[in-house]
Amino acid sequence: MLGKFTYMRAGSLQEAVEAASIPGARVLAGGTDLLGCLRDHVFTARSVVSISGLRDLQGIVPRPGGGLRIGALTTLTEIARNPQVRESYQVLAEAATGVASPQLRNQGTLGGNLCQRPRCWYFRGDFHCRRKGGDTCFAEAGENQLHAILGWDRCLMVHPSDTASALTALGAKLTIEGRDGRRTIPIESFFVSPNVSLLRENVLEPGQLVTEILLDPPRVGTRSTYRKVRDRGAFDFALAGAAIVLRLAQGKVQNVRIVLSGVAPMPWRSADAEQALIGRPLDAATVAASAAAAVKDAVAIGKNDYKIALARGVVEETLLRLAHA
Ligand SMILES: Cc1cc2nc3c(=O)[nH]c(=O)nc-3n(C[C@H](O)[C@H](O)[C@H](O)COP(=O)(O)OP(=O)(O)OC[C@H]3O[C@@H](n4cnc5c(N)ncnc54)[C@H](O)[C@@H]3O)c2cc1C
Repeated sequence: MLGKFTYMRAGSLQEAVEAASIPGARVLAGGTDLLGCLRDHVFTARSVVSISGLRDLQGIVPRPGGGLRIGALTTLTEIARNPQVRESYQVLAEAATGVASPQLRNQGTLGGNLCQRPRCWYFRGDFHCRRKGGDTCFAEAGENQLHAILGWDRCLMVHPSDTASALTALGAKLTIEGRDGRRTIPIESFFVSPNVSLLRENVLEPGQLVTEILLDPPRVGTRSTYRKVRDRGAFDFALAGAAIVLRLAQGKVQNVRIVLSGVAPMPWRSADAEQALIGRPLDAATVAASAAAAVKDAVAIGKNDYKIALARGVVEETLLRLAHA
């Protein structure tokens, strides 16, 4: 059952920021994650501030000079279907298509997808884990088959968002608005690693909202794709996924960004895997070396051992798919 809270529907961004700055306030976009968290008492709310009526935060428009501006309230379905996204940012269209189910994609927004809370069953359950201020990560000695193998430190959660990996691979920027004004940051500066804080997954302070996601125009010769492996064919989070954006020139890799999902507490960009490709042809040997590099620092702790081979295989398959695109 939901606890008691007041509800307000913001009529403007300024109103939303003011209301969301009041201690105990929670921002509501599509509600597909927030309401579950409140119902399951993962956290509480004194007030819920709906931003769903803010038109400025909706839709996909071209940016002056090229690229796209995606409002934070744009639904995942709109992103998956948008012709410009499908044409020029395939990795994002594929990641959005792979999220949850049609109903959740119709209701869930891109901003909400980036800001959703962890899906770790201990965090979501009745356990006072480190991410809730406790002193135990119950996954360490417990059921850790879905948990992290990279970048974890005292908390084994994996970041649940597919679109976060795709947007990181695309080098997207996010605009954040709060009482102290507006700033635009690279998406890589948005997510917070557990060794910085265990209590938050991103840099947002109370009252701050993501308002838009900005994409630069793709350079000629760029290809991209997202591959996600999950337990069942639909309606499930990634066990391991790879978002890859690369550019070939004269048969060799000029630029590449490789970002793994489902294996780390944040979208996991692998500089080692990228380095193994730069200046080389996208052949089987190079691809295998890159995939091995992607997991060279992985540490599994028992039931999640399989994820090391899985993540390596996902990177290898995804690169080979791009080689033949
Ligand atoms: C059964 C199920 C399966 C799922 N499977 C997947 C999956 O496979 N892959 C995947 O990526 N996701 C998956 N999800 C998550 C789903 O995609 C998210 O619930 C959805 O994208 C959240 O969007 P929303 O608009 O409903 O967010 P809300 O529920 O409204 O908000 C989510 C969180 O983000 C905050 N928030 C929302 N918008 C903003 C904003 N603009 N600025 C600041 N904070 C904001 C809210 O305060 C809240 O904490 C699944 C969810 C469910 C329930």
